[in-house]
Amino acid sequence: MSDTKAHLPLADAAGDDAASDSRGVGDTVGRDSGDSSRVIGVLALQGAFIEHEKMLGKLGIRTVEIRQRGDLEQHFTGLVLPGGESTVQGKLLRDLNMLEPLRQLVAGGLPTFGTCAGLLLLAKHVEDGDTHLALMDITAKRNAYGRQLGSFFTHAEVTGIGTIPMTFIRAPYIESVGKNVQILSEVNGHIVAAQQGNMLVTSFHPELNDDLSVHRYFVNMTESGHSLDQAADIL
Ligand code: GLN
Repeated sequence: MSDTKAHLPLADAAGDDAASDSRGVGDTVGRDSGDSSRVIGVLALQGAFIEHEKMLGKLGIRTVEIRQRGDLEQHFTGLVLPGGESTVQGKLLRDLNMLEPLRQLVAGGLPTFGTCAGLLLLAKHVEDGDTHLALMDITAKRNAYGRQLGSFFTHAEVTGIGTIPMTFIRAPYIESVGKNVQILSEVNGHIVAAQQGNMLVTSFHPELNDDLSVHRYFVNMTESGHSLDQAADIL
């Protein structure tokens, strides 16, 4: 399964404070497993990608930054699409000729986690906005809480994860989902987390709080059968 020919250029990013996480990361993921095949790609064109790298590092997961088309040929078993500005990210993906290969990877089953702008990149429908990868059967509303009032913090439950802190920054929410999409969380009657097969999205930013549970959930998704090896043939 694992593609050992791929090279893994990143330094070991494992953090020391993983042990402070209450559920014990060693249960499911841990830097001591010696499994070098577990690498997650983080789209690093714009936005909050370093914060995701730090969270994954605390879980003992290597990350590799995806900055140009050639980076897609590296070995990685999951992909993070960070928050930022979806219009800027979409333009850069097009300018760098990365949109179509990325779309094929995600469509081919690569586990993908989109936060905020990353959610908008994945959405098939964006109210008052352009679509980009257009793979996930959701209708998202950009800047849904208003540009000025769009930043707030709360705690809410996510199905399969528990009650977690949620930081919203000029966030979208999901207005409606297709039948294959599982709603994972709602805040004030709006959908803020959802999953469709290999695609997980949150309209908030779990990478901006200390709670590792959403990232752990995603890492578990990457270990449950999806892999880039399957998608690599499509490239
Ligand atoms: N409002 C931004 C957009 O439209 C998303 C904000 C964020 O990622 N924090 O892309």
